[in-house]
Amino acid sequence: MSQPKNTATDQSKIMEKIVSLAKRKGFVYQSSEIYGGLNGCWDYGPLGVEMLNNLKRQWWKSMTYRENIEGIDASILMHPRVWEASGHVENFTDPMVDCKGCKSRYRLDVLFEDMSVKRKKEALREIEPGKFEGQIKDELVIEEFAKRVATDADAAKMVAVLSCPNCGNKGTFTEARKFNLMFKTFVGPVEDSSAVVFLRPETAQGIFVNFLNVQSAGRLKIPFGIAQIGKAFRNEINTKNFLFRTREFEQMEMQFFVKPGTDDEQFEYWRSERMKWFVGLGMKAEKLQWHQHPKDKLAHYAKDAYDIEYQFPFGWGEIEGVHNRTDFDLSRHEQYSGKSLKYFDEVTKEKFTPFVIETSAGASRSFMAFLVDAYSEEEAPSAEGVMETRVVLKLHPKLAPTKVAIFPLVNRDGMPEMATKIEADLRQHFRVFYDDSGAVGRRYRRQDEAGTPFCVTVDSQSLQDQTVTVRERDSMKQDRIAAAALRSYIAERLM
Ligand code: ATP
Repeated sequence: MSQPKNTATDQSKIMEKIVSLAKRKGFVYQSSEIYGGLNGCWDYGPLGVEMLNNLKRQWWKSMTYRENIEGIDASILMHPRVWEASGHVENFTDPMVDCKGCKSRYRLDVLFEDMSVKRKKEALREIEPGKFEGQIKDELVIEEFAKRVATDADAAKMVAVLSCPNCGNKGTFTEARKFNLMFKTFVGPVEDSSAVVFLRPETAQGIFVNFLNVQSAGRLKIPFGIAQIGKAFRNEINTKNFLFRTREFEQMEMQFFVKPGTDDEQFEYWRSERMKWFVGLGMKAEKLQWHQHPKDKLAHYAKDAYDIEYQFPFGWGEIEGVHNRTDFDLSRHEQYSGKSLKYFDEVTKEKFTPFVIETSAGASRSFMAFLVDAYSEEEAPSAEGVMETRVVLKLHPKLAPTKVAIFPLVNRDGMPEMATKIEADLRQHFRVFYDDSGAVGRRYRRQDEAGTPFCVTVDSQSLQDQTVTVRERDSMKQDRIAAAALRSYIAERLM
């Protein structure tokens, strides 16, 4: 049996290994790499796009294969008034500081977040000498620090005593400035202010503005939902941690429209559904947690908000938000468009603005979380019986980009002929990969790294009795089954 090898000390290196594996195997490449790359943008390679599509398909099925959720695909460019109504023109800003020494730019809240407890303590000591001397508990330092940086005036004091993480210069930061994260572009040939449009920073607004279109087309009754998967763009100040914070990414959002008064119950329902979805696709439950937004830090539209966080090698990070957005969005779009977006209940004859429970997941961030979660290094015996490190992506078979690999044991005696016949048959139903080069042990390892759950080998016995071996990726156990039963054997395990 193979043994898990990951230890805490490996953690810092694990991200590096995953990024390098992702490139080597064709999951993810840096965008425009031959030109030196473009910060915050990534390209999905052959295995990556397959896995991303699998992930999105699973989400789409889990949402829209229900009687009361419909899908849409809205355009990325929308009327500029949409973003005034949504509050993005006014509020979609991050506080930004620059180091006057080395010109590095930081998002102030992230700069604070990333500081070690030791540095937090030093900063507190400096702005309030005497209060934070001697032994104080780390938790207290963190709490005090969070309190101080919550107000603009105290945050400004903190910035004045901070050192730049890049050049180490102290007190060289500019004052914090608000920076709007929306990308601007122009429609038509004239680049003046009347032609400005934005690349959508979230997919949600395409749902709100289509609320009544979808409702009336499907004659939907509240409660019902609208789901959408699509690209979103944010001109993030700092992009970092691979796919975690990028400037172009994909979201999977669902807005569930409910009667006011039923929103708390629906909120709890969707929280539970969404956590189940990640766990159901094999994500380790102990690596997932809820983070409730403190009431005083809730977004301007929210009544309650929780994030599903995943424990990445660099710390806990949000992968999905579940928000009670009240009637804010529909009311604002009514106000800005002058069009009624009220729902009329045929039974009770009531007319009202629904509340919205939103589930907002990053497809790219979830992709990365699934990749990280699946990455494993184990000690396993090689074909020669020597212990070696086996790198394996333990992806849920539904997410795995290739479902089955087919190998002839040797390239003679009729084995390739039988293997290619099996390949042609299975290819009609699954993503398959044919490999006839190198020792079988090596071929298994290559598929382990790609996350392929099943490897089928045609050997000399196959030629006599029409059976093959199927080797399962995680247990490395082999079953001998009839070649004719392969299709149903694999299909059953992908359910
Ligand atoms: P953060 O605080 O990390 O910037 P957020 O709270 O602004 O995220 P939301 O606006 O709630 O995020 O977006 C919903 C989801 O979209 C997030 O949970 C995340 O999975 C994804 N997402 C948001 N920004 C990015 C980004 N820059 N890159 C990749 N995914 C993102």
